[in-house]
Amino acid sequence: MSPAASRDDDDHDSMTTTEGRQPVTAHTPATRVLVLNSGSSSVKYQLLEMRDSSRLAAGLVERIGEETSRLVHTPLAEGLGGKRERTGRIADHAAALEAVAEELARDGLGIDSPDLAAIGHRVVHGGLKFSEPTVVDDAVLKEIERLVPVAPLHNPANLTGIRTARQLRPDLPQVAVFDTAFHTTMPEHAARYAIDTATADAHRIRRYGFHGTSHAYVSRKTAELLGKDPSEVNVIVLHLGNGASASAVEGGRCVDTSMGLTPLEGLVMGTRSGDIDPAVTFHLKRVAGMSVDEIDELLNKKSGLVGLCGDNDMREIRRRVDEGDERAALAFDIYIHRLKKYIGAYTAVLGRVDAVVFTAGVGENAAPVREAAVAGLESLGLAVDAERNTVRSDEPRIISPESAGTVVAVVPTDEELEIARQTFALVGEDRTIDA
Ligand code: ADP
Repeated sequence: MSPAASRDDDDHDSMTTTEGRQPVTAHTPATRVLVLNSGSSSVKYQLLEMRDSSRLAAGLVERIGEETSRLVHTPLAEGLGGKRERTGRIADHAAALEAVAEELARDGLGIDSPDLAAIGHRVVHGGLKFSEPTVVDDAVLKEIERLVPVAPLHNPANLTGIRTARQLRPDLPQVAVFDTAFHTTMPEHAARYAIDTATADAHRIRRYGFHGTSHAYVSRKTAELLGKDPSEVNVIVLHLGNGASASAVEGGRCVDTSMGLTPLEGLVMGTRSGDIDPAVTFHLKRVAGMSVDEIDELLNKKSGLVGLCGDNDMREIRRRVDEGDERAALAFDIYIHRLKKYIGAYTAVLGRVDAVVFTAGVGENAAPVREAAVAGLESLGLAVDAERNTVRSDEPRIISPESAGTVVAVVPTDEELEIARQTFALVGEDRTIDA
């Protein structure tokens, strides 16, 4: 049912005055959620209709603040036109959101619509305080700001997005959905680093984990795929995108994850090293004479697959491997070796594993990665069926053979839908707006 149709259905709620004037109040169920993912120079957005979880529009503003800013807007609701693009300087996040609002309005989906229930914001770091999606008020903004020292690249941009959206629609609930939230259930023995406790506590140094919205969504979808309640299944989720992380999910609760204080720890990623001996950083400073900023840049931007072979796109790496390129082959082997270690470690953490599940750009699309990651792990009950593994689909699917002890699956992630769902669940379906 279209939102417009639902408005008509609700017309009987309208009040007509004794003088026979037009309705002064109509209670309209607001069922749309706008999801914003604000980066330092970009804003990604999606508008969703929560009655059927459908997407009405999606888009991206990039290179904010530069002369070459670009907005790409894609209407997705039936009957709307195709993709539109604007180029030319968009000065700041406020201008970016205004441009987004204009594009949505052109499709009759304006953010001033009473159908909009809330705006859901992706916030990278919620520390220990935010284990649930939270309606933003001044105190919440302050707390997100307090976490900037542990998420200097992300939280400031997320805050800008929230503040700007608040100015545009001050009457609307703004909901923060935290990347770290799903991991707040990790027990202390998984979350703490074995360093001096007083120092760790003074500086809030511990393992927080990231990609939590994806791990939550994918682990729940995996339970659905197995026909079980999330509380009944233990799942290892491998979120393999440009950033990559693994998590061990026991009965729907995260008990360990591979990223730590920052998204640098854990798996080999597109440009990040993942796990290394921390003494490498001392060595780089003392012996190689690098500054802390240079080391930060090396480990976050010039390491991982790109550092090993010059490419971070798995498609390109596989093409090179198939052509016999040795650097690409070694990069691939290092990537797979680390993945295997995490599968083994999380099998030990969980004790019983019902499913190992691949998601995100690499996990959903790269059959050779999935095959190599479980090769030789038959003793853990893991195998992939060659034919099932090469099926391309947007649907969750099992790729292990019927006989396998543990299910291996591919479950496409959908972080925007999960943010919208959590936002809508918090704000409530019965939120009504006086029209
Ligand atoms: P992020 O959200 O972390 O930027 P994504 O989850 O979108 O990343 O994943 C992007 C990565 O997915 C690309 O860098 C590329 O390595 C990989 N990828 C995308 N499509 C394919 C494909 N068809 N085959 C192999 N790898 C792919």
